[in-house]
Amino acid sequence: MARRAIVAANWKMNGDLALVDTMISELANVELQENVSVVVCPSSPYLSELASKVKSNNLSGIIHVGAQNVSEHQSGAYTGQVSAKMLQELSVEFAIVGHSERRCFYKETSTQVAHKVKAVLKSGLTPIICIGESEAERATDQTETVLAAQLQPVIDKIGIEQFVDVVIAYEPVWAIGTGKTASSEMAQETHKFIREFLAKANETVAAKVPLLYGGSVNASNCEELFAQTDIDGGLIGGASLQVEQFTKICSAAKGK
Ligand code: PEP
Repeated sequence: MARRAIVAANWKMNGDLALVDTMISELANVELQENVSVVVCPSSPYLSELASKVKSNNLSGIIHVGAQNVSEHQSGAYTGQVSAKMLQELSVEFAIVGHSERRCFYKETSTQVAHKVKAVLKSGLTPIICIGESEAERATDQTETVLAAQLQPVIDKIGIEQFVDVVIAYEPVWAIGTGKTASSEMAQETHKFIREFLAKANETVAAKVPLLYGGSVNASNCEELFAQTDIDGGLIGGASLQVEQFTKICSAAKGK
């Protein structure tokens, strides 16, 4: 079974045109291992420039453009929102959905996340669905219940068969931007739970879904994390703004 590895950069509300330029020039020189895709998710004003740089550097199919958020609606009176179809027109191929910052600051619910996933798939993009527990939830042994509750509405909305076109990022909230990384054993154990949870609905599909780890991944800890059986790459925040770190992380990933 070939499961591709994905390394995705989430720049959040950081970066500028100069970083788009440098990142693409440097990524063009990186030797990626077998079956690896790199996704760069800048803020939406930079998507177009990033897409054109990917094309002009002949990196299409290797470096992919991703959005950090997307509307669940197709079009209409939703000021400030961007639809999946608009993203698709800009050659965007991935969209992060349900990042913990959106769940926390913008009160996105798992039902809304499920609607967004459906909209993203309808426009032919790949959703990167973020799930993860808070520190208090882990401390009180609720991690698996929380993850199941975040995933189930998506399964109910799109059906398990569509998960062949989905990427899941497990990001413990307490590890995001804090410098605290889940140990590779803890991350593997949780990824295994996620895959088994999907397998209860469809084993064949579950084996194909790339599961990314996110939360303070850097050039020093990525190799050990990526070596775990059920970890298929990472969603990288802070370290993805540093070209040298990010390119090292990309070279460490390998398809399984
Ligand atoms: C993220 O924002 O998705 C993330 C994982 O951030 P960081 O790598 O900075 O923890």
